[in-house]
Amino acid sequence: MRRVLNFLVAAVIALAVAWFVAGLPGRITAQIGNTTVEAATPVVALGLLLTLVVLYFLVRLLSGVVRLPWHLGRWRGARQRRLGDVAVTRALLALAAGEKSDARREAHRARRMLSDTPLTLLLAAEAGRLAGRQDEAETAFRQLAQRDDAAFLGYRGLLRQAIARDDWAEAAVLARQAEAAQPGADWLRQERVRLAIRAGNWAEATQLADGAVSRGALATAASETEPDKARAVKLARQAWKDNPALAPAALAYAEKLRADGRESRALAVVRHSWTLAPHPDLAAFVLAPFPDTLARVKAAQRLTEANPSHTESRLLLARTSLEAGLAGEARHQAEAARDAGVDQRRLWLLLADIEEHDHGDTEAGRAAQREALRRAAMAEPDPQWRCTVCHVPSTAWHAACPNCGSPGGLQWSAVAPGSYPLPAVLTYGPERGTEVL
Ligand SMILES: [Zn+2]
Repeated sequence: MRRVLNFLVAAVIALAVAWFVAGLPGRITAQIGNTTVEAATPVVALGLLLTLVVLYFLVRLLSGVVRLPWHLGRWRGARQRRLGDVAVTRALLALAAGEKSDARREAHRARRMLSDTPLTLLLAAEAGRLAGRQDEAETAFRQLAQRDDAAFLGYRGLLRQAIARDDWAEAAVLARQAEAAQPGADWLRQERVRLAIRAGNWAEATQLADGAVSRGALATAASETEPDKARAVKLARQAWKDNPALAPAALAYAEKLRADGRESRALAVVRHSWTLAPHPDLAAFVLAPFPDTLARVKAAQRLTEANPSHTESRLLLARTSLEAGLAGEARHQAEAARDAGVDQRRLWLLLADIEEHDHGDTEAGRAAQREALRRAAMAEPDPQWRCTVCHVPSTAWHAACPNCGSPGGLQWSAVAPGSYPLPAVLTYGPERGTEVL
């Protein structure tokens, strides 16, 4: 409707102008040399108008011809960007799908179309890494590292390559450079913790670790390797404060306190940890100064008074009682644990010992022992250190899991057969360091 109105207004104006021009009176005479040209005024006005229109289109045409190369360049650039974007998308898809040659080809095409941008360099590097062309990847990562706008990406890639080839000295240098490029990056902090663990630099790993569990474990290891005595005590105390349920942390602190003659404080530390998470090593620490078996029973009772019905408490009381010849109490504690549903190998072995003590080498004694040993053979395994991340067991405690390297990953636990989580080494998934981008 609006268009129709505009057209009508324009038509009326044009008609009015034409009417006005056609009605102009007189004639116009022009003399050029000996030639005289004469025409009616409306004809001259129309001629002038047509001349202006022709001049306008002529100027436009000339301007178009002059600017043609610029327009062509612009068109070519837009086309390259469009094709480059397509190559970037294809390279990303190929990387995600693990198609090595496609990823490399599309990454090169993207680089050719869009030149060296952080995105195309990163794609080229990752495609090279995926294809096993480490030199190609390294060159692209180094180019990235030289750029102010993407240095961290370059250092990150170089750091991952150094870790993959176990070049820990180079990795430490690159980690520092990456930290300078992007201070406080969470991923980098975790990698620096791993590097410090690899280098046995537990104090640095403790400072970098986040989370009380991993910090407690790392501080425990740091306290064991710290040559300065006062500093070692401080680290052990920090470890125990961070994770009082971690038996090695409690023992590290308690042993240092005992060595300093602060026995009551050492026992208080161990007793507190026992109430949170009993562990046989804590009991061994408390009983160590007592060679007398009855004194050991008393020490065990004192240790377990806060949680006497815990499996570890009952087993400790049963074992120390049996050693002191208190077979009745030993049997009471062991059978209470059994009745509570405990079905561990060590419980049945203890019951076999109690049967031997009670009945000696009699027919009834031998039968009871056989039954206990038969149950021991079928029982659940005893508690052990097991990684909470990769679920692989370890015969001894370590500040970082020997299998997957997780700081503070090992936890003392009893796991029933059939409920074992599948170790991460047996599960399908991306191998460490092979993830792209
Ligand atoms: Zn692990």
